[in-house]
Amino acid sequence: MNGWVVEVGGAELLEGLDPRKVRAIEGIDPLACHVPATVIELGQWVAAYYCCPLGVTLPSLVPAAVRRGVGTKSIKFVELAVSPAETPRGLSPRQRAVISTLERRTSADGPIALESLRVEAGLATAAAIESLARRGVVTVTEQSTVQAKWREHSLPGSAEEVTLSTDQGRVVQSIGRSIGGGFSTHLLRGVTGSGKTEEYLRLIRRVLAEGRSALVLVPEIALTPQTTGRLLARLPGQSVAILHSGLTEAQRHEQWRAASQPGAKVVIGARSAVFAPIPDGELGLIVVDEEHDSSYKQDQAPRYHGRDTAIRRAQLARCPIVLGSATPSLESWHNAVDRLNSHLHELPGRAPGLSTPTVRIVDFRAEQRQWKDKRVHLIGPTLHRELERTLAAGRQAIVLLNRRGYANWVACGAGGACEWRATCDRCDAPLVVHRLREGAGASRSFVRCHHCLQELRLPKECPQCRGKVSVFGLGTQRVEDEMGRLFPALLAEGAMQRVDSDTMESSLHFHTALGRFASGQCRVLLGTQMIAKGLDFPGVGLVGVISADTSLHMPDFRAAERTFQLVSQVAGRCGRGSGGGVAVVQTFAPDAPAIVRAAAQDFVGFATEELAQRAAHRLPPAWRMARIVVRDQLEGGAADAADALANGLRGLPTSSNCRILGGSPCPIARINELYRSQVEVMAPGAAQLSALLTDARDRSLLHLGERMAVDVDPLSML
Ligand SMILES: [Zn+2]
Ligand SMILES: [Zn+2]
Repeated sequence: MNGWVVEVGGAELLEGLDPRKVRAIEGIDPLACHVPATVIELGQWVAAYYCCPLGVTLPSLVPAAVRRGVGTKSIKFVELAVSPAETPRGLSPRQRAVISTLERRTSADGPIALESLRVEAGLATAAAIESLARRGVVTVTEQSTVQAKWREHSLPGSAEEVTLSTDQGRVVQSIGRSIGGGFSTHLLRGVTGSGKTEEYLRLIRRVLAEGRSALVLVPEIALTPQTTGRLLARLPGQSVAILHSGLTEAQRHEQWRAASQPGAKVVIGARSAVFAPIPDGELGLIVVDEEHDSSYKQDQAPRYHGRDTAIRRAQLARCPIVLGSATPSLESWHNAVDRLNSHLHELPGRAPGLSTPTVRIVDFRAEQRQWKDKRVHLIGPTLHRELERTLAAGRQAIVLLNRRGYANWVACGAGGACEWRATCDRCDAPLVVHRLREGAGASRSFVRCHHCLQELRLPKECPQCRGKVSVFGLGTQRVEDEMGRLFPALLAEGAMQRVDSDTMESSLHFHTALGRFASGQCRVLLGTQMIAKGLDFPGVGLVGVISADTSLHMPDFRAAERTFQLVSQVAGRCGRGSGGGVAVVQTFAPDAPAIVRAAAQDFVGFATEELAQRAAHRLPPAWRMARIVVRDQLEGGAADAADALANGLRGLPTSSNCRILGGSPCPIARINELYRSQVEVMAPGAAQLSALLTDARDRSLLHLGERMAVDVDPLSML
């Protein structure tokens, strides 16, 4: 077994341990990697706070590719061991060729690799070099390095320097003062297009100038190529390490090693880069871009939140941390506004040259009444007109629908008493219709479960009454169909691109699509929230939201917050060039506060109202929450286990100030043939929640693993 050295000390470390469970260290793994002490400490915090065994947490601190040493190569270097006067006589011509090649080199050239020496000396084999080494004329040393192959992966970004606006300058000054002054948290709320990346860049440069390193977390590099590209383009000649899931194993290992080297550098990465092995004492700044993004939360053990773990890391490293967003999470906003343990900085206006988009809410109920035919329409007259106007003016459009597939509702269309609806036989979830293009305009439909991913034929008739099957609902494929009917020229020119996880199999597909949009070859980008994140194209004059309601009716207390974020973020994609921009938001709930406030770009109003609601209902961020999900093959098994757990928790003295809800079935009560029940724990603060969970762990109420999962500060409530 491989182990982790988390502490070095004497016999006192064995106190309180069962000697039968203690093993001696046999030796050190030659591939062992050195993790800085603060990162180990961070891992211990993650294990304790997120209620995950240390043995499960520690391996996630280091990528598997690093632990397995992928891409490690051993390289031999050759140096002369004797002065020219001491060179022995009677050498073969091949040996003399080696010596003279080595003698021609200057000390500035450094040691030469054995392979290069063989080639330069014009030899077919290394036998002459080896024989010289045996005679002590040359020395051969071995060094292991990590080498990865890189394909040119162009991340767009301009190297041009930008002049800061007064607001931008003020914020850089104000955050900049805390650099070098220990731990502090800063929330930077800047409307979309206010130039947050520019702020990060100025702060990063200050830290580098002081000889320290900066760590930048972004939601997912593959999905935010522009932010990363812009930072890279503006930091020429600096050492930069990039850590994200789109890398090959060897690349990941190489970049991890680069991050662990001493010296000022920038490490940019997605969630797990929060554990980057930047040597202790070097970290001078952490930036978390788009801090509200839900991809910062890991959905399997350890279920840590990258942003909150980054705050803990900044605390351990005694450096400032900047959380940036146009639509901060209510957690961060609450900390900055109510608790005063975080400093708030605001960029109220867009950067110079950018206009504020006009947002129009369209009541889709009223629009639907205008159609005479019975066909399903997803693009209403208002959005249709704006699309025509935008395309006629030679500008570009982004069309968002946050739902994949063709339609999400397959049911009996015979009417009458039959209530059949197609659901997955392994999950309590509806099946979603997808269409596969088969060339020449032909397509084939099938249904897929978005939870267990099984695919089935689309039934031809209702299995209960043999009536006809109806397909309702929304999906990006259906919008693509309708766009093709309304704008056949777009289709013919290949000037429309659908972007969702079904079409974008890799980050390369996504980069290609973005490249075509940037060049103007593609006029309309249509897709899911992938296109709502951080994209910045000056040609975009229109953003259309097909339905703002997809996230509004989820059984989740954050539904309003998610809707507000999505609408604000996607509306912010237009008006980044001259000519302004319009966002058209179609909805069946035109009066929903989340939609009205997003259209008015009134974050503060939304956040104030929503925080009051959460506090009144004793929900996060006012209260802290943990969600415990129990799984079992039997419906009764899951329910009984959840009830027993809930009762056990209620009986603990540490639960006196807490609320224990459940056991109850999860909103999706069965996934992949396992029944799911949940217990929700609410505590007035993080300390009370931790105390209760620790207590429950110590008394063996929690059996973490396959059957039970604890999620502290959960983001997914399904
Ligand atoms: Zn399923
Ligand atoms: Zn039927």
